[in-house]
Amino acid sequence: TDIKELLLSRIRDVADYPEPGVMFKDITPLLADPAAFTALTDALAEIAAHTDATKIVGLEARGFILGAPVAVRAGIGFIPVRKAGKLPGATLSQAYDLEYGSAEIEVHAEDLTAGDRVLVIDDVLATGGTAEASIELIRRAGAEVAGLAILMELGFLGGRARLEPSLAGAPLEAL
Ligand code: IMP
Repeated sequence: TDIKELLLSRIRDVADYPEPGVMFKDITPLLADPAAFTALTDALAEIAAHTDATKIVGLEARGFILGAPVAVRAGIGFIPVRKAGKLPGATLSQAYDLEYGSAEIEVHAEDLTAGDRVLVIDDVLATGGTAEASIELIRRAGAEVAGLAILMELGFLGGRARLEPSLAGAPLEAL
């Protein structure tokens, strides 16, 4: 489709970043193009509307940039899921494995409650580990996952299959 081509044309491949052998998808050209950024925001807001989301969760850091305008457009709240140690209030935290070592993400416990339907937004889905941990956090906070919406899915890394059990029927939409 037109929007898919527009978005793809504004994502830059950077070889060997952040380490040799990795082809990094850089979305900064897309953010710098108001037509592309607006088209992306509109498409994500459409997903928020048709999943009946009551909150947007953005995953640090690029999920903040993409998720915040969607929350404003959809007229619902934005909740940051941050790397451990950044949020000042009482948090729930979730550890997950990386290729080497592990990572931990957190959310303010009071930001999500029973009755919330949360749409998770991020830029790139790779192995699915980050998204899987965020879904776990949302459920532990008592909220429901309305879906996961991402700009770009790196299909060869198998994230979609990994997320199937945790999504439990909620949609994974990759633009
Ligand atoms: P995963 O946990 O392996 O799915 O990695 C996804 C997380 O790493 C997301 O928060 C992405 O922002 C980030 N990420 C992984 N690969 C890329 C990339 O090529 N470009 C931008 N972000 C990436």
